[in-house]
Amino acid sequence: MHAPTLPRLARLAPLLLAILGLLLIGSQLLNRLDFWLYDGLIRSQLKHDDHSGITVIAIDEKSLAELGRWPWPRAYHAQLLDKLLHARAIGLDIAIVEPSTQPEADQHLADAIRRNGKVIGPVFPEMQGHRLVETRPLPLLASAMAGLGHTDYEQDEDGIIRRAYLQAGLGSPRHPSFAGAVSQLARGIRPAPAPPPPALSGLAWYRAQAVMVPFSNGARPYQTVSYSDALNRLPADSFANRIVLIGATATGLGDSHLTPLSANNRGLSGVEINAFMLHGLMEHPLVTPLDPGWKALLSALILLLADWRLARQSSPRRLLASYALAALAILCGSAMALYLGRIWLGGSVAALLLLLAGILRFVASLSRLHTLAMTDSLTGLHNRRHFDATFAAALAEHQRRNWPLALLIVDLDNFKGYNDHYGHYAGDEVLQQTARALRKCFRRNDETVARLGGEEFGILLERRQPEQALAAAERFCRHLEGLAMPHAASPQGTVTCSIGLTARHPAEDTTRSLFEDADQALYLAKGEGRNRVRLARPDQAAAQASPP
Ligand code: GH3
Ligand code: MG
Ligand code: MG
Repeated sequence: MHAPTLPRLARLAPLLLAILGLLLIGSQLLNRLDFWLYDGLIRSQLKHDDHSGITVIAIDEKSLAELGRWPWPRAYHAQLLDKLLHARAIGLDIAIVEPSTQPEADQHLADAIRRNGKVIGPVFPEMQGHRLVETRPLPLLASAMAGLGHTDYEQDEDGIIRRAYLQAGLGSPRHPSFAGAVSQLARGIRPAPAPPPPALSGLAWYRAQAVMVPFSNGARPYQTVSYSDALNRLPADSFANRIVLIGATATGLGDSHLTPLSANNRGLSGVEINAFMLHGLMEHPLVTPLDPGWKALLSALILLLADWRLARQSSPRRLLASYALAALAILCGSAMALYLGRIWLGGSVAALLLLLAGILRFVASLSRLHTLAMTDSLTGLHNRRHFDATFAAALAEHQRRNWPLALLIVDLDNFKGYNDHYGHYAGDEVLQQTARALRKCFRRNDETVARLGGEEFGILLERRQPEQALAAAERFCRHLEGLAMPHAASPQGTVTCSIGLTARHPAEDTTRSLFEDADQALYLAKGEGRNRVRLARPDQAAAQASPP
């Protein structure tokens, strides 16, 4: 009557969830959940110490006000670089790509770069018409530099920069990152000479070796000074042995990028992101994001394993709690891997799916318990509790709609004798056989069969006229007899039953009055020699109760 869809669904749950997980991770739909987790985790990190030795010389509003509108004469940069002669390394994060109107100014700057000997310049991809090109400093300047590094950062789908690539380039990832080249130089390692621009056109931009940009908890791991102060006021000593990045921070001059820390904050300029990156490269190993393919595989494995272990829990409440705990453990594991293992697993999708699996299993387990509470354990038929509930509901409906309702009580004949002769276990088997026969004969949706107790069964036939009900009862009686189960202790020689039956429009009846009538008819059937059906007449019970 009620299809156990939920338990069946629960059995398929691991497979469904693994497929769903792979699809969701593959489609990047749930990436945002991981972004949210990552941003929260990195914000709650401890503050790092600020002994990084990094100085950002900012082309800021103050410098523009003091030194005039951009672009500035090349001589300013040349003069500044001469002042930075004793810096450990310099990242000149300014795109000087057009020749100056005074050719000697370019040569002058190139000389200063060469004199300094520790200047890294930027390379980045740019669209020129429909072609992607690699933009780099003027060849005159680039050849004077110690090396080039790419300043390309990847934006996630939500427009926020979290990842960077240690290598990138047009045609192949052939340039180190800008911060990487500067940090190499700061450690005294000469970067490899920059490869020439690719001869072929129409190449794509390639990225390799993804890392998470080490924004830490947002505290700036560098000192910032205005370009104008650096040029005109601060002594050269203040830059001795420091790593210096020169770049634009003034609004409108460079790009402003959103980062995980910029929610209530302004975005960061490219040079500031490079400073974070540089600090990360100098101080600790960077966090590596797990490759999406491996992430999908790992999530699926964790889900299957966890579900396989946890689904055995029998108590629904404990089941739900253990899944929730496992989901929490995945989140904690992701945090530990991030903080201690320097690897970003992004476990929020797996945690969410595991929680969903837990809820599914919880519901399925409740439904299983519900089914058990309604089922007779020996025969698998409905039990008395379910029968009573169905009977009461059916009676109310049949009274309301004025439909005829039939109730049958089936009782095995001389069953005590069967037990005594063949033993209790054999008796149980007869009860199971009888249940199978009942299921076979009464299989319609409007027929409810239940074991009422002992060797007594109740059958409810909805919307059934007395003659139809009588015929159905008779059919069953003959069917059971036809099974010819030997019963040496019975005069019939085989297992038989007697059936008391009431069938009518139950206008004034209660479940009790119908039961009593059917019981009375059963009593008559037994009295008349068993193995037969008797229909209760409405006045029968009263007649029996008060003899003349
Ligand atoms: P009648 O023809 O008048 O119905 O006689 P009867 O022997 O069937 O009736 P009675 O009520 O005296 O005996 C019913 C017997 O059913 C008693 C008990 O041993 C047996 N019985 C009740 N429940 C079970 C059960 O779960 N398993 C087995 N094997 N026997 C049961
Ligand atoms: Mg009985
Ligand atoms: Mg009996």
